[in-house]
Amino acid sequence: MANIAFIGLGNMGGPMAANLIKAGHNVQGFDLVQASCESAKADGVTIAGTAKDAVKNAEIIITMLPAGKHVLAVWNDVLPGAAKGALVIDCSTIDVESARQAHATAAKLQLPSVDAPVSGGTGGAKGATLTFMCGGDAKAFATAKPILEAMGKKIVHCGEGGAGQAAKICNNMILGISMIGVCEAFALAEKLGLSHQALFDVASTSSGQCWSLTTYCPVPGPVPTSPANNDYKPGFAAALMLKDLRLSQEAAKAAGASTPLGAHAESIYDAFDKAGQGGVDFSGIINALRSAKP
Ligand code: NAD
Repeated sequence: MANIAFIGLGNMGGPMAANLIKAGHNVQGFDLVQASCESAKADGVTIAGTAKDAVKNAEIIITMLPAGKHVLAVWNDVLPGAAKGALVIDCSTIDVESARQAHATAAKLQLPSVDAPVSGGTGGAKGATLTFMCGGDAKAFATAKPILEAMGKKIVHCGEGGAGQAAKICNNMILGISMIGVCEAFALAEKLGLSHQALFDVASTSSGQCWSLTTYCPVPGPVPTSPANNDYKPGFAAALMLKDLRLSQEAAKAAGASTPLGAHAESIYDAFDKAGQGGVDFSGIINALRSAKP
């Protein structure tokens, strides 16, 4: 059992903190939003008055925040007051450069740190079935692993600091591209008079098989749990997919990698977001493709 500080108790952080409680840990939490604090409190999290208060006496400090600027601001604010040797873990999806800066901030204070972004969405956060992609040295990873196991089922050490974020944006670039591909195939099938179920039955057992088809199928019917069956309520909002595609393109530019389909996927989700659809599940992009001129 560990004393854990958890900062950022939103859609992901709230249920993740609740799973740490279920695993028998003491969790001191903090969020700027009162409603998130109330809901975490009902799950057994002790709510602190400030982020700084939450980290006092914590052996493990976890952040789950929107973007790199939030993570850097919180780490700069709270880490000077952290207990000696406390392990700092950031589970947010942020840019690789900010992740490396965050590691450097912790290192200056002689605190071990791990970047550990997740895959699996709010369902994975609730069910403790997330995949964690971790960056950091072997010793920090070894300390983080049993804590992360209370919130996920697959914990992968990807390399040194920032490697977890690199894996996350590469994975999500595949996801954004593959979802558009699956949506284009269903839109084409409709025009060709092929039923959704027939395309699903063939592609899900053929070389077109992928997560966007078999778990998040963008048409209602073949996969009853996919957001398409729930009026495209997220799930994983298109605005978050756009954020991850932007991160992938920033990283590609900085690293000199050619990712033309990633760039195209970013522009398609950018147009969807500008059309006011950012709050729709990212599989809802099928509706934009259906109405687009050939
Ligand atoms: P969210 O907006 O629901 O939660 C973020 C929380 O951080 C909010 O409650 C906000 O009030 C809080 N916050 C912001 N600044 C703060 C500060 N200075 N101090 C304390 N709290 C602060 O977002 P989310 O869906 O929980 O996502 C969190 C991260 O996880 C993001 O980086 C996102 O990209 C990533 N992610 C989300 C999903 C998903 O399906 N929602 C999946 C994988 C990864």
